[in-house]
Amino acid sequence: MECEICGREGGDILAMVEGAKLYVCHGCSSGAKIISMPRQAAPARQNQAGGGFLSSPASKTELEVVDDFGSTIRRARERYGLSLAVVAERLNEKESFLDRIEKETARPSEGLARKLEHELGIKLLEQVESSSFEFGGKSGKGMTLGDVLEIEKKKKR
Ligand SMILES: [Zn+2]
Repeated sequence: MECEICGREGGDILAMVEGAKLYVCHGCSSGAKIISMPRQAAPARQNQAGGGFLSSPASKTELEVVDDFGSTIRRARERYGLSLAVVAERLNEKESFLDRIEKETARPSEGLARKLEHELGIKLLEQVESSSFEFGGKSGKGMTLGDVLEIEKKKKR
């Protein structure tokens, strides 16, 4: 099929171009919203879990303990002039466990992090967007499916 934009052969990608559904070639599809790709373009038996590029990755927001939680806790605790033992007692936790958390050899659970946030007036939990996909380099500039496939092809070479 001819590309409806440039007229070249290979216009077998259905894409949304400025509000119109057009069959376009790979080159013209970059930057456009892809509606469907030709079936043979999908790698045959590569992804056993099924899915692949056409199933959009699930992206969700979750709470995560900040990276420098240990020093954050210690600084706040020292600012209040509290000993580990006192904080441990107030939180009903073991002093040795809090010590390990401050040294970042142990990670507080979300519940404990919340208690520490409350007790010390600090921020330990942050919302992170977790996505199974991460594009390096060009990310942020609106990668299209065409770009992704192009990168995948380059990787294989
Ligand atoms: Zn074209």
